[in-house]
Amino acid sequence: AKRSGRNNFRYYSKDLTASAKERLTLESELRRAAERMELELHYQPKVSLSDGMMIGSEALLRWCHPRLGMVPPTQFIQIAEDTGLIVDLGQWVLREACRMAAKWNAEGKPPHKVAINLSAKQFQSQNLAGAVADILNDTDCRPEWIELEITESLLLDDNGKTLDTLSAFRSMGVSIAIDDFGTGYSALSYLTRFPIDTLKIDRSFIQSVITDHYGAELVKAILSIARSLGQEVVAEGVETVEQAAFLAAHGCQLAQGFLYSKPLPEAELASLPQHFHVS
Ligand code: C2E
Ligand code: CA
Ligand code: CA
Ligand code: CA
Repeated sequence: AKRSGRNNFRYYSKDLTASAKERLTLESELRRAAERMELELHYQPKVSLSDGMMIGSEALLRWCHPRLGMVPPTQFIQIAEDTGLIVDLGQWVLREACRMAAKWNAEGKPPHKVAINLSAKQFQSQNLAGAVADILNDTDCRPEWIELEITESLLLDDNGKTLDTLSAFRSMGVSIAIDDFGTGYSALSYLTRFPIDTLKIDRSFIQSVITDHYGAELVKAILSIARSLGQEVVAEGVETVEQAAFLAAHGCQLAQGFLYSKPLPEAELASLPQHFHVS
């Protein structure tokens, strides 16, 4: 037992060294990635459950690394947040997504709202509402063509600044969604304290609606709260027709997930049909 304990320790410390090194490499490469045009946004359709129309999409960051291939955001967003790099990265994402939103909403096209993920760090380190206003102006993007996705944790440790920023978005006409709804330390009171337009129910809950009685009840309860507060609901990570049928039957308006499409590069999203088959 003693020997295996020592071995475990050795493996453990070796792993730590490797991951620290890997982290450092990723960090310095990430710093140069934007200038080298290695970053791009993919877009995942958001679908209306009542008629199957694609009403918008979510912009998701991709890093096409020359050596490592496609590095998923789960592997670099945290590093970008820890190093503060997320502020510049997030600024690039905002500009690029607004540029696309303006393009997709050009004359005669059906309305398409682009959802953009924001990190809490972006709220702390700059005049975010001012930055968004400038970007909308520069890209000729109307405020109603974008939605900003934030997480519950941002609302839980608010010092007043978050409320000011979100209120500024509200008065500009930019809508706000709570991402991964239900996974944070939800204090439901924040739903009425902050100007929130949309709840995005986390994939973990959607996965359980067919298989688990309590999961189904929980999602019904969230839909009911949202309905009373006049908030729109997006179901995240919808993968099966059974899940979609359950959600539609209980009044969920919008869905996003592999059932419809994975996130796609701009050109591929543009060539998708505007209409999906919904049960
Ligand atoms: P998220 O905002 O919750 O985005 C949804 C994630 O679920 C995406 O992963 C998407 O590809 C994945 N997904 C969508 N439908 C399905 C499905 O049916 N099944 C499964 N298994 N997965 C599905 P992705 O693109 O890897 O992004 C991971 C996370 O990285 C995002 O989670 C978000 O928190 C963060 N992220 C991505 N882009 C940005 C960005 O521009 N800024 C910031 N701050 N964070 C970002
Ligand atoms: Ca999101
Ligand atoms: Ca989410
Ligand atoms: Ca998530």
